[in-house]
Amino acid sequence: MKKIISGLLFSSLILACNMKDKADMIIINGIVYTVDSTFSRCTSIAVRDGKILATGSDDKILNTYRSETIVDLEGAALYPGFNDAHCHFYGMGEGLRTVDLRGALSFEEILERLKKSQEGKPSEFIVGEGWDQNLWEDKSFPSNEKLNELFPVVPVVLARIDYHAVIANEAAIKRLGIIPADPSIAPGEALMKNGKFLGVFLEKSADRFKSSVPAVKPQEAAKILLDAQKECFKYGLTSVSDAEEPLSVIMLMDSLSAKGDLKIRLDVWLTASEENKMHYSSPYINGRVRVSTLKLYVDGALGSRGALMVEPYSDIPGTRGIRVGTSQQFEDNCKWAFDKGFQVATHCIGDAANREALTVYSKLLPPGNDLRWRIEHAQVVRPADLDIFRMYSIIPSIQPTHATSDMLWADERLGERIKDAYIYRQLKEQLGWLPSGTDFPIESVNPVYTFFAAVYRKNLEFLPDKGFQMENSLTKEDALRSMTIWAAKASFEEGIKGSIEPGKYADFVVLDRDIMTIKEFDVPYAKVSMTFVGGELVYSK
Ligand SMILES: [Zn+2]
Repeated sequence: MKKIISGLLFSSLILACNMKDKADMIIINGIVYTVDSTFSRCTSIAVRDGKILATGSDDKILNTYRSETIVDLEGAALYPGFNDAHCHFYGMGEGLRTVDLRGALSFEEILERLKKSQEGKPSEFIVGEGWDQNLWEDKSFPSNEKLNELFPVVPVVLARIDYHAVIANEAAIKRLGIIPADPSIAPGEALMKNGKFLGVFLEKSADRFKSSVPAVKPQEAAKILLDAQKECFKYGLTSVSDAEEPLSVIMLMDSLSAKGDLKIRLDVWLTASEENKMHYSSPYINGRVRVSTLKLYVDGALGSRGALMVEPYSDIPGTRGIRVGTSQQFEDNCKWAFDKGFQVATHCIGDAANREALTVYSKLLPPGNDLRWRIEHAQVVRPADLDIFRMYSIIPSIQPTHATSDMLWADERLGERIKDAYIYRQLKEQLGWLPSGTDFPIESVNPVYTFFAAVYRKNLEFLPDKGFQMENSLTKEDALRSMTIWAAKASFEEGIKGSIEPGKYADFVVLDRDIMTIKEFDVPYAKVSMTFVGGELVYSK
């Protein structure tokens, strides 16, 4: 009798098992933030063919699906894969090979770091990046004198944290072949003393130095992209919007992605070059690579007083910033994108730059359109211009860590206008949503810092005490949405990723602590335990 019962039990178990649907992976026992429309939570996910099959309680999923791979999260928090809505992917990978000058507290410290980097393996061309004179006691731009003494022969080019200024030594200036009276240098772009270069170059002139760095070989370029991907996975990024690349890099990304070497989802924007515009006459999607946005600029950066302002800078009256290109070029590029069906993403920092882009956009875009044209940074926006975002469905794309990096000195540049700067909540209220990113490598790649800066408006030293202009902080829910579903929406991909819902890609990140519930002082220390892209484990601590 017993035997029959157990036999019956056994066969009914097999029957039950066979009746269960097969999944490639089942995740259980987690705190799963789905970031769906109701911001619901669950504990379990079933995954098949790189996509989410179902979500629910452990019981529900385990009773419906079977899998050889069961991942027990042991109560850890899982979120949709993070998506950086504005970064420089190739530049970050490249930066992993240059001398890191971030956080240097004096020019002497920079010289020390350079010296150290050359010990044992001297370079033929030294590239450094990340200096910020606002962190120094003497906040004025340095001269290249000491750099020339230290490196009389090897060219040295050091990019400022915002990449809108460089310090170059004499050898690099000679190599580029420019002289003080050079007509190709726009007024104000080269700092001079007694008719000689000081070694600091801004905007277009700075770009010339950056492009004078010897090009990397194709093999090295692939390695740079793979290194960048590794860094992203380490921080839980499964998608990025890469804010402009030249054709050669986009084509390399496309081929590495097609081969399966690049697994990260890339929304890569076109540098507004003739070469790019000739090659991509319409938006292009191939697997995980998407090319549907044209990147434009109106101005430079606030730190180097390149941001275009309506009124002069508070700390140097008479200066209103530097315009990048002409108004006509900007309009022509917008027109090209509109005609060809591309999104436009324009870099605008100063209030005059934001005003110009909003005005040009609003001339082309019909009210109520869904073309999702974007303004990158939207850093200083006059209250009178705010409504234009809503009227023409223009997306403000923000970088919360910019606020907490710049807050130490931005008021010197802006004076009273600081109230119009980094107004993320007001910007969010325009469309009810906005995407966030880091602009890495200008800021850290780590999306947890984005969350922390957006919610608490403090830097990593937990300053200021009460947060910077807290009226413009985001809620935790909105901060998480901005780096997942809203970042996906900004690239028209909210239907395939950005939340944990059946049918979407199985892109997840598991953190070692739950940033939605832990105390403020714990948030910046949250680390990624696992990153999944399309159901594949791509990073594990
Ligand atoms: Zn950028």
